Amino acid sequence: MRVLITGAAGFLGSHLCDRLLKEGHSVVGMDNFITGSPDNLAHLAGHPNFLFIRHDVANFIFVPGKVDAVMHFASPASPNPNSPYGYTNLPIQTMKAGALGTHNSLGVARAQKAKFLLASTSEIYGDPLEHPQKETYWGHVDPIGVRSMYDEAKRFAEALTMTYHRTHGINSHIVRIFNTYGTRMRLDDGRVVPNFIQQALRGEPLTVYGDGAQTRSFCFVDDLVEGIYRLLLSDEHMPVNIGNPAEISILQFAEAINRLTGNPSGIVKKPDLRLGDDPQRRRPDITRAKQILNWEPSISLDEGISRTIPYFRVKLGLA
Ligand code: NAD
Ligand code: UDP
Repeated sequence: MRVLITGAAGFLGSHLCDRLLKEGHSVVGMDNFITGSPDNLAHLAGHPNFLFIRHDVANFIFVPGKVDAVMHFASPASPNPNSPYGYTNLPIQTMKAGALGTHNSLGVARAQKAKFLLASTSEIYGDPLEHPQKETYWGHVDPIGVRSMYDEAKRFAEALTMTYHRTHGINSHIVRIFNTYGTRMRLDDGRVVPNFIQQALRGEPLTVYGDGAQTRSFCFVDDLVEGIYRLLLSDEHMPVNIGNPAEISILQFAEAINRLTGNPSGIVKKPDLRLGDDPQRRRPDITRAKQILNWEPSISLDEGISRTIPYFRVKLGLA
């Protein structure tokens, strides 16, 4: 296949480029670098099956030549308002990437009779009242809340994808991604994994927002990419959760990072600076992924974090 990946210079997009190239496909990567970095694709410069196009997907997308699949991953993804790369500080860009970017990406898929895969998110479940979250859950989202530029853009993107599927017969897929971590995460995007690992490597206390009782379920990037690749090759059109169901409180997560890095500085509790809307519990029900894709994660938190630490060491100039 020749696959267009939007958001190719980001954390997940760049790993997807690598996986697809490894499988023998050709990749057209597209990005405007608003939160991503050319560093994430530097190793692909000159690759015979890789083409990069710098472009904002909110504008009409033109790709020369045949495209067999479109994977729409372009969107800011961090909720942290303390980071300039957080979506609350890029609010209009976030809504445009989710709404106009999805429309333009679907337009490419329709014109090219290509498959389409949307990167959706566990955030479409909001601060969930059902636990763990199944794909049948409609969510608990404030449409005008402080995270709504992201949550509602993704909900619109899902609705538009299903509308193109039902109206134009687009061969579409929707992956609902739960918290994923690994190499190539931006040091300063404010998400919990880069924040904690870099604080730990600098020997600083880890900043736990609120009481740390809020939970997340962290998936290592290689597991996620495997699930997404299987979904791309499948005939499934309804949304599929991909994530690791191993749930952990943010406090326990901070303790794990300190243990794995040997950081003696402990933790410091900070007021939740994130203006509310921080989901209290999050854990995917992955029954559908198991049934439909025969997929489940295989990399433990200890192993995944240990594989991620050396990357941050290099980025911080400590190795
Ligand atoms: P990221 O910020 O590292 O990557 C996003 C990429 O999209 C960046 O390279 C950015 O420059 C690019 N981009 C943003 N707007 C663009 C535009 N208008 N035109 C072209 N490029 C644009 O974030 P990520 O973690 O890799 O997330 C990738 C996708 O996966 C996003 O759609 C995000 O919503 C989704 N997702 C990620 C997670 C996670 O845990 N990492 C969880 C749920 C959903
Ligand atoms: N968090 C934290 N300290 C930090 C960064 C984040 O305690 O330095 C918490 C945050 O409040 C949230 C969880 O970690 O409860 C995950 O946050 P992240 O920004 O990674 O993404 P989210 O899962 O909220 O989309």
